[in-house]
Amino acid sequence: MVNLKQIHELPPILANQISAGEVVERPASVVKELVENAIDAHSTQVDVTVENAGLKLIKVVDDGDGIDADQVQTAFLRHATSKITEQRDLFRVRTLGFRGEALPSISSVADVVLKTSTGAMGTEVTYKGGKFVSQSASESRKGTTVEVRSLFYNTPARLKYLSSPNTELAKISDIVNRLALSHPEVAFSFTSNGRELLRTSGRGDLLQVLGAIYGVKTVSKMVPIQSEEPDLAINGFVSLPELTRASRNYISLILNGRFVRNYPLTRAVIDGYGSKLMIGRFPIAVINIKLDPALVDVNVHPTKQEVRISEEPKLGHMISNAIRQMLATKQLIPDATRDF
Ligand code: ADP
Ligand code: MG
Repeated sequence: MVNLKQIHELPPILANQISAGEVVERPASVVKELVENAIDAHSTQVDVTVENAGLKLIKVVDDGDGIDADQVQTAFLRHATSKITEQRDLFRVRTLGFRGEALPSISSVADVVLKTSTGAMGTEVTYKGGKFVSQSASESRKGTTVEVRSLFYNTPARLKYLSSPNTELAKISDIVNRLALSHPEVAFSFTSNGRELLRTSGRGDLLQVLGAIYGVKTVSKMVPIQSEEPDLAINGFVSLPELTRASRNYISLILNGRFVRNYPLTRAVIDGYGSKLMIGRFPIAVINIKLDPALVDVNVHPTKQEVRISEEPKLGHMISNAIRQMLATKQLIPDATRDF
């Protein structure tokens, strides 16, 4: 009989597996966390490789800052982070990560090998099912490589809940695309089962990234928008009304370099088109929003895709107006017969 009155602290591995339930929902979440770490480490190139939709292997190679050998095991501890230190840092988060949950969570539900170097002699650590296995010296190429194998092998319920490999791969692809759109200054590649699915230049050219993702023909029907106010700025590309999709998913919102989901602002993009869109059709758009981090609360959800923005209505108007004005200057006649 379990004694329900006996209160005790959970062992770290179990606590990490519980966190993993929120942070690592599926293979795409692992890719997101690892690539975000690479971006936070000032990488200029990030190469993502998966096999069997991430269940056999997820590998992320970056050329960023690396981790010192004596810090590497700390990085796998729960709530261990180099990105915030004190309470007020929570209100000025400039990095994608800050919760210190990704590495402990991922390593609690998979086998992880992390190789890293800050430029001098490198180090390699291995974790299996949340347990530290070994640390040894390794190559000194500056940057970090994380390999995740046998994801969810010790959480059968999670494994069962996953969709088909094609659906999981599509979700990974979607995450990589959005990370690439959020960071055109980083050169991304994405390879699945030996096939390259995405490559971006890293030259900071958002239109090039859009072309790599949606194709050059599609991008030729997208136009730039821009608007600025004292502590608020937006820029990006939106499709002409003749280029639409059957889902809102092609509207990407990027807030201070973080891809976010936000219904009112997605709505604001659509509203900018007024009556120019057919019912059930939606534009393709990438909107970059630059906002004082003090006006954004990113500590709402473990995956940090939901955020609270204190200037949301003002931002919404700005987005709608910028799109409306752009469309007015184009003086377009909507062509409802075209469909891509
Ligand atoms: P968080 O990103 O929230 O800080 P993580 O568990 O994802 O937490 O990572 C823990 C720490 O490990 C980070 O704060 C960072 O210092 C270090 N780290 C993780 N991945 C990398 C990487 N690719 N390059 C450099 N440092 C990294
Ligand atoms: Mg992280």
